[in-house]
Amino acid sequence: MEERKPYSPTILHSIAAVRRWRLTKTLEGKTVGFIPTMGALHQGHFHLVKQSLAANDATIVSIFVNPSQFAPTEDLDQYPRTTKLDIEQLAALEGQHEGLCTKVDAVFLPQVEEMYPLGIELDVQKQSGAFVSVLGLSEMLEGRTRPNFFRGVATVVTKLFILVNPTRAYFGQKDYQQSLVVKQLVKDLLFDIEIVVCDIWRDSDGLALSSRNKYLDCATLEKLKQINKMLQKGKEMYEEGETNTQVLLQAMKGDLEKYVLEGSMLIDYVSINDKETLEELETITDKGAVFSCAIYVKNEDGRETRLIDNVLV
Ligand code: AMP
Repeated sequence: MEERKPYSPTILHSIAAVRRWRLTKTLEGKTVGFIPTMGALHQGHFHLVKQSLAANDATIVSIFVNPSQFAPTEDLDQYPRTTKLDIEQLAALEGQHEGLCTKVDAVFLPQVEEMYPLGIELDVQKQSGAFVSVLGLSEMLEGRTRPNFFRGVATVVTKLFILVNPTRAYFGQKDYQQSLVVKQLVKDLLFDIEIVVCDIWRDSDGLALSSRNKYLDCATLEKLKQINKMLQKGKEMYEEGETNTQVLLQAMKGDLEKYVLEGSMLIDYVSINDKETLEELETITDKGAVFSCAIYVKNEDGRETRLIDNVLV
């Protein structure tokens, strides 16, 4: 009996190849779902991919560690790159989705030189050329610590959207502010793309999966359970009737105090904000809120990693 060759998605390395792939789908009248990622894929990413497989005729995933969203002091060089394994895992999703015979059609691996024809400096002062900013939303929360982060995200997402022109694009609530920035970008730049925001994929201890978790040793990962517990505590207090955000924040931060005092965690922010404008709230109304945090955690070897998480109430 002839052995069935394992499935592999089409790998697209160039802009020209992506444009050709997209044209074929257009001519075939197919809907296209798109999942932009930075690779080092995990179940959180596959959760997005599976939603695309279920809703579109064709699914394309991009893997690109986008330099323009990293500050010169950040971890661009160390960011985990596992492209071969990523592709194998995407291929293995074939046919797995709720009995549907579906598969990831294509994986786009953009090259920095093509995405940034003028080259890309990490220092914004030295940059030249065209960039995209979503003013307002980008300056809140994450924007305070990472002032040019969303400019980098908005720029690369715009380029990818122009190339892939998906019917739907999938983003994770894990990066809640990013999903709002992308929705605003699509609205303001008149893209005809539906943005689908998928809920957060967590491990059995409640830790939100993240490619940066790969930096962390077991003892540190263990302590991180506390981050989700803190957010859940805030949510539960709110559900039991507490709407004063100062009271909520104080109780939540108290949960991390032990780790802050021993020096293994540093709170960048724990915040309660409006779900659409990200305005800081004093009182939570029936509109609900987003509880979010960014925490620096220190490995036993002293290496520091910044992690984010959130819950919606
Ligand atoms: P990244 O590769 O980190 O840029 O993530 C690519 C996409 O996957 C983004 O839209 C993220 O929000 C989403 N994502 C990352 N981690 C998770 C997770 N644990 N659950 C759901 N979505 C996620």
